[in-house]
Amino acid sequence: MKKIINELEEVFLNNRKINISFEFFPPKNFEMENKMWEAISLLKDLNPSFVSVTYGAGGSTRERTHHTINRIITETDLRVASHLTCIAASKNEIEEILRSYWQIGVRHIVALRGDMPASSPNYQLHPDGYKYASEMVAGIRQLKKDGIDFDISVAGYPQKHPEAKTLDEDIDNLKRKIDAGANRIITQFFFDADVFLRFVEKCRNKNITVPILPGILPVTNVKQVKHFSKMCGATIPLWMEEIFNGLDERQETRHLVAGIVAFELCRILHRNNIDDFHFYTLNRAELTSAICHVLGVKYSQSDNKI
Ligand SMILES: Cc1cc2nc3c(=O)[nH]c(=O)nc-3n(C[C@H](O)[C@H](O)[C@H](O)COP(=O)(O)OP(=O)(O)OC[C@H]3O[C@@H](n4cnc5c(N)ncnc54)[C@H](O)[C@@H]3O)c2cc1C
Repeated sequence: MKKIINELEEVFLNNRKINISFEFFPPKNFEMENKMWEAISLLKDLNPSFVSVTYGAGGSTRERTHHTINRIITETDLRVASHLTCIAASKNEIEEILRSYWQIGVRHIVALRGDMPASSPNYQLHPDGYKYASEMVAGIRQLKKDGIDFDISVAGYPQKHPEAKTLDEDIDNLKRKIDAGANRIITQFFFDADVFLRFVEKCRNKNITVPILPGILPVTNVKQVKHFSKMCGATIPLWMEEIFNGLDERQETRHLVAGIVAFELCRILHRNNIDDFHFYTLNRAELTSAICHVLGVKYSQSDNKI
């Protein structure tokens, strides 16, 4: 027991500032928009460094992403990052979108290639488009000549991107994105702290010096995530399946367990000198806000701010 108390003390009383950021996805309808907005209203008081809004590959959510971003800028003080994928667009289209984002006040882009549509395995890249995210990052940096100087985040994969042959090769490709001008890496979700810590070490050994934000996905339904994980190359550890085993019909317990599992992951990372956390909120506030609170990030109304 003594050891556990000491470990918690280490997390809560170490005075190291924790930085958090949140990801949202553009809602499909009015009801979902209200839900997302409730989540944003709650989470904004935790003073995130930024919030990001995803973008459907191929531009499928272009209007909705734009609308969501615009609303966040207009109605809150949050710093917002817009995800942008290049997979089915020409360079000119990408430039047009970037310029429109800059005009409405976006200063941070999460630059991504996007996934090939699962329904068309022989999908051809746009003839005038970017092949890889690293090329798009270089393209974004060219806008500097016109005074458009975005903060740029890119994606990293602690368990390698599914198309990459090895993690080593994937990290070489990640380095291309940084060398092209990206300032930050946000990772795919993962569930074992070791996986992330080893990834960071490998990146540092390859001279990648920018901040690497772990992507934290609080999971309430392992079965759903298992299917999704396969596609993006993240594995669900056996211990996690075991923890949720028998809870299929017990939603409330699953939610509590999800909070404990995600908090424990953050706690171990924090003990290992990781102070920045990017949460995949799935447009819900409760779990993420509880985890942040236990980590020591308090609501701004509180006097107890770190
Ligand atoms: C934090 C985060 C946010 C995301 N947000 C979105 C989103 O909003 N919308 C969405 O549709 N998807 C999103 N994704 C998913 C992402 O679009 C897919 O994983 C996509 O398949 C790869 O995108 P990328 O930017 O990592 O691609 P890239 O960095 O271009 O890499 C793609 C593949 O090509 C390889 N590669 C790169 N450069 C080279 C090269 N020069 N030679 C050979 N191989 C190379 C890489 O190793 C990798 O296997 C996100 C992923 C993460 C981790």
